[in-house]
Amino acid sequence: MQRCNMKNIVDFIQNTFKTKEFVPLHEPRFIGNEKKYLNDCIDSTFVSSVGKYVDTFEKEFALRVGSKYAIATVNGTAALHVSLLLVDVKKDDEVITQPLTFIATCNAISYLGAKPVFVDVDIDTMGLSPDSLKRFLEKNCEIKNSTCINKISGKVIKACVPMHTFGHPCRIDEIKEICDKWNISLVEDAAESLGSYYKNRHTGTFGKVGAFSFNGNKIITSGGGGVIVTDDEAIAKRAKHITTTAKIPHPYEYVHDEVGYNYRLPNINAALLVAQLEQLDGFLASKRELALRYKEFFSKSEIVFAEEPKESKSNYWLQAILLSDKNQRDEFLEFTNKNGVMTRPIWRLMNELEMFKDCQRDNLKNAKYLEQRVVNIPSSVIL
Ligand SMILES: *Cc1c(COP(=O)(O)O)cnc(C)c1O
Repeated sequence: MQRCNMKNIVDFIQNTFKTKEFVPLHEPRFIGNEKKYLNDCIDSTFVSSVGKYVDTFEKEFALRVGSKYAIATVNGTAALHVSLLLVDVKKDDEVITQPLTFIATCNAISYLGAKPVFVDVDIDTMGLSPDSLKRFLEKNCEIKNSTCINKISGKVIKACVPMHTFGHPCRIDEIKEICDKWNISLVEDAAESLGSYYKNRHTGTFGKVGAFSFNGNKIITSGGGGVIVTDDEAIAKRAKHITTTAKIPHPYEYVHDEVGYNYRLPNINAALLVAQLEQLDGFLASKRELALRYKEFFSKSEIVFAEEPKESKSNYWLQAILLSDKNQRDEFLEFTNKNGVMTRPIWRLMNELEMFKDCQRDNLKNAKYLEQRVVNIPSSVIL
């Protein structure tokens, strides 16, 4: 790519964000009731493990995404860890996921002593490919006593964790159908996709359990935070039980009936989150508007702007573009980061990391293609 083209891109982004200074990739916005609720929370003295903001948040969140239950957690990784535990993932089980994801997905699988198995993504969604999933299962697996067994490793494939990359929904209904057929529990990593819908249904609500994150870089934030959603009452009860201390209700005695995780979201973080959730519609509108501007701008260039997939409504959390090859990508990253515009490559494939290099995988053709080309560009809500 010519330098002058890259200079144009930097100018366009700085103009869009109305600055000649550094443009970060993604900044949080606290422009609603954040300070009011935080003050109220501090005045009440209930800043910690119980309080009305946790309850309010859980109710509002469940309503917002259309799930029966929502259980707040201390972060998204904890939400994923417990989600996998809730569908009975155990030591030496296997969990199918995509190689193109944030490390937290694979960390959560590892906390349970299970191993990820990597199946390719689709180019247009950047999320797990139902066709590749089906092919993988038909080639390598069989059902024995209602359990999916990997014939190569002899291990049980207990769960499948697709991820909605940058907020773009993957083909989750097809993935669900395949998982149902193979008796594999579907757990959605919806950490990036609050506000994203597939066929008019909110992402994270297709699986048995779904996990979201409210880390500082996500579409709404509580500093750190997460949530588990489910429609299953028994799972929801157990989620609350083990994300606290697994205490049996009693007026004063301490009796605990299993190992708990203390993954509770403090009330003070929940106060921030209730205020952020009130602003989600505005944030979504701003991001969609930004996506349109980027789309129009890049339509005049050789760079491809990543649009929401068919039959989906994306939250456009992190805007992404595809460069024509790795050299061009590297040049682009070098130039933009040197010239005041923060850009980042998509993640290294999980199977290339030391901890997961021996995990089973299919050819990962699309994941490799995307890994070399995808770059995130500034995506903050514009005030
Ligand atoms: C952010 C994120 C998480 C979890 O995030 P926390 O930082 O633990 O809240 C998990 N998976 C994906 C894909 C993410 O982007």
